[in-house]
Amino acid sequence: MTIIPFPLLSLTQPEVKARAKEHVARGAGAANLVYRDALTRGALAPEEVGLGSVAAEAWRRAFSVDLPEVKDIVREDGPLGETAKAVVALHDGLESEMVWIPMGRGRHTLCLSSQVGCKMGCTFCETGRMGLLRHLAVSEIVGQLLVARRVFGWSPDDPENPDGKRRHHNIVFMGMGEALDNADNVIQAIRVMNDPGGLGIAQERITVCTVGRVDGIARLKDAGFKRLNLSVSLNAATDAQRDAIMPVNRKTKLDALQAALVAYRPRRNFTLGVNYCLMPGLNDQREDATGIASFCEPLERVLVNVIPYNPGNAPLTRAPTDDEIDRFIGWLREEGLPVRKRITKGRSVMAACGQLGNVELRARAREDKRKRQLPTKS
Ligand code: SF4
Repeated sequence: MTIIPFPLLSLTQPEVKARAKEHVARGAGAANLVYRDALTRGALAPEEVGLGSVAAEAWRRAFSVDLPEVKDIVREDGPLGETAKAVVALHDGLESEMVWIPMGRGRHTLCLSSQVGCKMGCTFCETGRMGLLRHLAVSEIVGQLLVARRVFGWSPDDPENPDGKRRHHNIVFMGMGEALDNADNVIQAIRVMNDPGGLGIAQERITVCTVGRVDGIARLKDAGFKRLNLSVSLNAATDAQRDAIMPVNRKTKLDALQAALVAYRPRRNFTLGVNYCLMPGLNDQREDATGIASFCEPLERVLVNVIPYNPGNAPLTRAPTDDEIDRFIGWLREEGLPVRKRITKGRSVMAACGQLGNVELRARAREDKRKRQLPTKS
């Protein structure tokens, strides 16, 4: 029986070991070394850990490591450094995008995608205009991370900062797609990233962001990550307002979302991120700040991230001015909320929040499907 190589990047080290036991003669013995090397290198190279050609061939028959190909990188300089967006081509010709965002003091945040497109339809978001083309597989999500490490120069051996502290980079699932609409694959990708036998990225360095898929929030809780971060994109404090800009709210009202978040708390000192995209004329009034405070009240520890709206190709409104942002943050603080102001990065290269995506992909995918269905001439 021919075995199709299994994507190694979709498995944790113990899972690879178990599969190797079954499909590679004496494979379990070398599994830990092969796994760590593949995750570090971004390629399956069993010879590099001292295996002979016969054993290496057996590993290649059982496992594969395929990284997406980088199609384009666009960059924008800013006061904290360069923001870069990489577009990668997937095996079926679709594309996903990821963004490398400077945070100061040599640290970065990597914004990863979980889907190609998105079905949630948030009106302020470019990806929402694409609709959902497909979920990313676990190996594609982890593959993005390995590509990012290579093209953005993120090495596991990053030197220390001048102050002697290690440089820690964070990962956020805030790229293309609603992470909890692809919950099974995102949860498994987090297990792979977190596995100390491979990448060993601490859970507290990873944040899942959701617009409010309450079923996904429950799944994430069941997955048992104690130190993982979660943030919710709130963006409106009344059901009427949220219905208008976020279709998810027509099905799951704010009280249901609030109840799911109250039930989520994985540890006592957990802080929920509450993201609020500030849109002039739509959600930037004094009463909106009061509404956010009411929503947050039963959630115990929260941190409100105020994100200035980034107009895309079909803008809902303009970007807020600095004065408008500061005024709104002042109102939130009057309400007793801890607030962080997100500095816009990557807007000029469509790499900022809400700007990822390529609406032409949908037409291209449809055309490719049509061509595949055409009878071929013999
Ligand atoms: S904001 Fe997130 S959930 Fe909403 S459409 Fe965009 S990618 Fe999807």
